[in-house]
Amino acid sequence: MTPRPAAPPPLALVQSLVNTRELLEDRDDLSTPAGLVAWAAAEGLPCPARPAQADLTRVRRFREALRQLLDGGEGAAGAAAVLNGELARTGTRPLLRAAPPGAEFVGDGATALDTAITRVLATVITARLDGSLSRLKICGAEDCRWAYYDRSPNAVSRWCETSVCGARHKMRAYRARRAAAHPA
Ligand SMILES: [Zn+2]
Repeated sequence: MTPRPAAPPPLALVQSLVNTRELLEDRDDLSTPAGLVAWAAAEGLPCPARPAQADLTRVRRFREALRQLLDGGEGAAGAAAVLNGELARTGTRPLLRAAPPGAEFVGDGATALDTAITRVLATVITARLDGSLSRLKICGAEDCRWAYYDRSPNAVSRWCETSVCGARHKMRAYRARRAAAHPA
């Protein structure tokens, strides 16, 4: 299978979080404290040394809200509410700097997990504002839902990998048409 394309940084961080859950393989890297610690370390994010069950629940809810936001549609408003709740909880806000001139998003950083979530939110908001977030999409296959970076010229792709999920979709549509044409 062709490797599914990775997003360029900094969007790669958002993609990496969403893809800690792999539906096709029934795998969730954030199902254990050790899994969360390992993911955060790989992404260079701060993390509690021993995450509590509540931390795991929070970060998985945050992740699924991101997946829903990227996917758009009916669930996006609820997802935005979850993400806005995390903006408030972490105190994430824009800050202008005089020297060197710049602007960035900062948070209160009450806990290591708060700081990590602020970093992801900062990436999401920046990419939403500059439009680049629209290329980070969720695969249209219900049993895949992988976050992929759409490199097609007009950003019109629907599948994480056309040769995999697009082909599976075509096969299902073909079978459905056949079944409709030849009822048992
Ligand atoms: Zn897919």
